[in-house]
Amino acid sequence: MKRNRFTPAYKSIEDLVPYQTGKPIEELAREKGLTRIIKMASNENPMGMSKRAREAAVEAASGVYRYPDGGAWELKGRLAEKHGVSRNMIVLGNGSNEILELLAQLLLSDNGETLYAWPAFIVYRLATMAHGGKGIEVPLNSRLEHDLDAMAEAVTPETRIAFVANPNNPPGTYLPGDAIEKFMDSLPEEVLFVLDEAYFEYAEGLKGFPDGMDYILNGRQIVVTRTFSKAYGLAGMRIGYGVMPEPLAELLNKVRQPFNVNSIAQAAALAALEDEDFVRRSVALNRKEMERMTPALEDMGLSIWPSATNFLLIDLKERSGTHIYQGLLDQGVIVRSMAPYGLPETIRVTVGLPEENDLFLECLTKII
Ligand SMILES: *Cc1c(COP(=O)(O)O)cnc(C)c1O
Repeated sequence: MKRNRFTPAYKSIEDLVPYQTGKPIEELAREKGLTRIIKMASNENPMGMSKRAREAAVEAASGVYRYPDGGAWELKGRLAEKHGVSRNMIVLGNGSNEILELLAQLLLSDNGETLYAWPAFIVYRLATMAHGGKGIEVPLNSRLEHDLDAMAEAVTPETRIAFVANPNNPPGTYLPGDAIEKFMDSLPEEVLFVLDEAYFEYAEGLKGFPDGMDYILNGRQIVVTRTFSKAYGLAGMRIGYGVMPEPLAELLNKVRQPFNVNSIAQAAALAALEDEDFVRRSVALNRKEMERMTPALEDMGLSIWPSATNFLLIDLKERSGTHIYQGLLDQGVIVRSMAPYGLPETIRVTVGLPEENDLFLECLTKII
């Protein structure tokens, strides 16, 4: 085709379907004129954020006439201490999303491949396509777990990055350490392994669940990503990070924007790290509510996948997920339809506060 002034650098950009976010509360209010709306669609922390993080954010707001510290000296220092790594191994991002995006930008070119499961966190696909790469999508097995053997088989000479989320989104299940280690060992030298630990805090301590930072400390040349968006309750701040070998961090620092993480986010994240009690309470409430919701859903004849996260993937037993999603929207409850992820008979719901979960269960019962 003839090139014009809008022709993207890569054909894959034209094929890219933009990320569909969970429906914002304000949007549903506009559309349906509802006053009582709860959002259980984006795995945010229903307890909000740590009071200390909020205070730090408010205080930092008075300083926003200045540029942020582009090197994030203080926050990186605190994270380095927390994980026992050098500060030069940490790259902060505008959400951990940006780390995934930067890695694709750095390592892909026309025909470069990335490897990940499907369904998976859709950003792996988007970052790949935005940078001219080709995603090799390996189906999850019948239990919706990563098929790591099939993924290892799918590596080609063009493969540059392998993404694995542990625990995984949307199923919520996790892989034990020995499976991940076997997979990492199988990857050729030229393939970068990226372990996405967005839900780490929820899964920590579960039987066999590995801490990706241990792999880094053992000298593995991989990337581990973490975020402040989930258990830390700072999704709107957009801040996350990757821990990786220093030479790779140096390269990412060349391609990232100099001020990619704003000063309010840096201050809030620093304060959030000092309030581990908030994270502990968030995780405890999540587990308790999940244990309460599970039998209630089963009583409706539904089933769930065993979740190591703050969301439940619900098997609607041959009912349309889109239909149930719409029915819940009509009642002011926002969940996520998983049809775009190839799971048309499921919905994904973020575990909320007890009263939100009660309302969700009540509304779902009405529909079913
Ligand atoms: C929510 C989520 C992220 C985090 O995204 P941020 O950009 O840090 O908000 C990363 N990976 C997965 C699998 C997620 O579900």
